[in-house]
Amino acid sequence: MPQYTPPLRDMQFVMHELLNVVDQLKALPPFGDIDADTVNAVLEEGGKFASQVVFPLNQSGDEEGCTLDKSTHEVKAPQGFKAAYAQYVEGGWPALSCDPAYGGQGLPHVLNQCLYEMLNSANQAWTMYPGLSHGAYEALHAHGTDEQKATYLPKLTSGVWTGTMCLTEPHCGTDLGLLRSKAEPQADGSYRITGQKIFISAGEHDLAENIVHLVLARLPDAPAGSKGISLFAVPKFLVGADGALGERNGVYCGGLEHKMGIHGNSTAQIVLDNAVGTIVGEPNKGLNAMFVMMNAARLGVGMQSLGLTEVAYQNAVAYARDRIQMRSLSGVKAPDKAADPIIVHPDVRKMLLTARAYAEGGRALSMWATLQLDKDLSADDEGVRREAADLLALVTPIVKAFITDNAWIATSHCLQVFGGHGYIKEWGMEQYVRDARINMIYEGTNTIQSLDLLGRKVLADNGAKLRKFGKMVQDFIEEEGTDEAMQEFINPLADLGEKVTKLTTEIGMRAFANQDEAGAAAVDYLRVCGHLVFAYFWSRMARVALDKVDGGDPFYQAKLATARFYFAKLLPETATLIRSARAGVAPLMAMDEAWF
Ligand SMILES: Cc1cc2nc3c(=O)[nH]c(=O)nc-3n(C[C@H](O)[C@H](O)[C@H](O)COP(=O)(O)OP(=O)(O)OC[C@H]3O[C@@H](n4cnc5c(N)ncnc54)[C@H](O)[C@@H]3O)c2cc1C
Repeated sequence: MPQYTPPLRDMQFVMHELLNVVDQLKALPPFGDIDADTVNAVLEEGGKFASQVVFPLNQSGDEEGCTLDKSTHEVKAPQGFKAAYAQYVEGGWPALSCDPAYGGQGLPHVLNQCLYEMLNSANQAWTMYPGLSHGAYEALHAHGTDEQKATYLPKLTSGVWTGTMCLTEPHCGTDLGLLRSKAEPQADGSYRITGQKIFISAGEHDLAENIVHLVLARLPDAPAGSKGISLFAVPKFLVGADGALGERNGVYCGGLEHKMGIHGNSTAQIVLDNAVGTIVGEPNKGLNAMFVMMNAARLGVGMQSLGLTEVAYQNAVAYARDRIQMRSLSGVKAPDKAADPIIVHPDVRKMLLTARAYAEGGRALSMWATLQLDKDLSADDEGVRREAADLLALVTPIVKAFITDNAWIATSHCLQVFGGHGYIKEWGMEQYVRDARINMIYEGTNTIQSLDLLGRKVLADNGAKLRKFGKMVQDFIEEEGTDEAMQEFINPLADLGEKVTKLTTEIGMRAFANQDEAGAAAVDYLRVCGHLVFAYFWSRMARVALDKVDGGDPFYQAKLATARFYFAKLLPETATLIRSARAGVAPLMAMDEAWF
């Protein structure tokens, strides 16, 4: 039976010692009164909710899955999910970072992101029910009419209604330009929507009174491709002018997908049959509006994988301390036992440290990224907002793809630590691996994230956003460059920074002649950039730890040891990646299609 302890000490380290989050938030008008005690209290209570209410439902939810009643089209989530959700709503958790104008608590997103890390460690499938709602809230908040906001935002804020994002259709996943769902305008200003959506997370369930589907569809006169897509709010139950629930709308679940992981979340085929909806944002500009939701969701997917990495790590460490097999190569370590605990073996340590370095690096990156979101949304100064928005845009595909790729590696390593027992259900490790796999696929596959990073975020603006991040790295290198103790971190960071600059120019030049060159290099490129970002945060974490390690607190000793492990054992992967990126497109395209 797995265990989970919320990593409050490390969260507080990142919040207060690495990023000085409270001081940075105080500079933003809505958070002038925030203090460290409030932050710590919310983290502690959130951790209790995650570990005590949601975590115990993780394995049972996986085994039971969701059930569809085909006669009513109603879906039941696994036993206990509904009651836990009611407790979540009662505790006010959905409202944490929502706008007070709609009943929200107005706390910063960075705090909400920490809550989500813990909820995802506890139970990713359950967490997707409130998680999707939060994205719907963001899209309606940014692009809804006053009437839509008044109708939907208070209910999404309190959590009594949940939300979905309905993009995917059977013939259209990555390429949304192919989508066919139709929206017919009506005389009263509403629309009638018809079509079929698949793979819709939390698409139908019994946790909430109503479900607000945000649906992409085409107007009759829409141009072909992605420029002809509009966004609609389509509630499961129609809502009267007084806010009361009315008739059942023509949007229902036609089937549930049977899938590899996240069994507790209903992945629904959604049939839209002349469903009533209202348009969100401008006609034919639905993707702009949906991107608000997609960007929030991409950071959210990073949190899913960060959560899984953390919980898998905790369990693998506990097992490695307990399980005895073989003797240490360098001599007996536990003479009172028949064998040594497997944590003495170098390769077991490598697997554990890999997961730990990815979890702690991912936590630093994602909290910093979410702090940029808070600045982007709330800073008075336009320059601060723009800077934060650019940095966030740059790192969003890295949060999504690098953290989820790392979690796949980390959860698999943690399973491996259990040997054959990791493959057996009762230990819970195989569920973490299965659950982690989807995070590399949805919200834009990791390949698509890499094309977004290289094409849109780097090459399309001639590297301006990358230079902004590079300036932060450079400033840090200059600040720390003369400190002997920091050389082991600063030198590889500076070296990688130079290599990324050269690699970007080289790929840019090649892509100028042949766009496939970008496609061939993008995945390697994202991973190299992911390491640059991690190397920066690991250097900064090492700086803090070096300053405090003499006090003898094992927390800082462990932080420093993990930083050293990261630089010695994980960062060198960049050499291979750069070589592969530079090998270009020719080795991929030399193969004739017929020869596959
Ligand atoms: C469990 C689950 C939950 C989901 N939840 C939702 C949801 O809530 N809402 C929703 O709308 N969708 C959801 N999805 C759908 C998900 O977002 C899509 O599966 C994903 O976007 C990929 O689309 P696809 O499956 O059609 O694959 P395809 O688009 O067919 O892609 C197949 C492969 O081709 C690659 N590929 C495609 N185009 C390119 C290119 N230009 N360059 C390089 N490679 C390319 C892809 O990376 C992928 O590896 C969910 C899916 C699953 C399995």
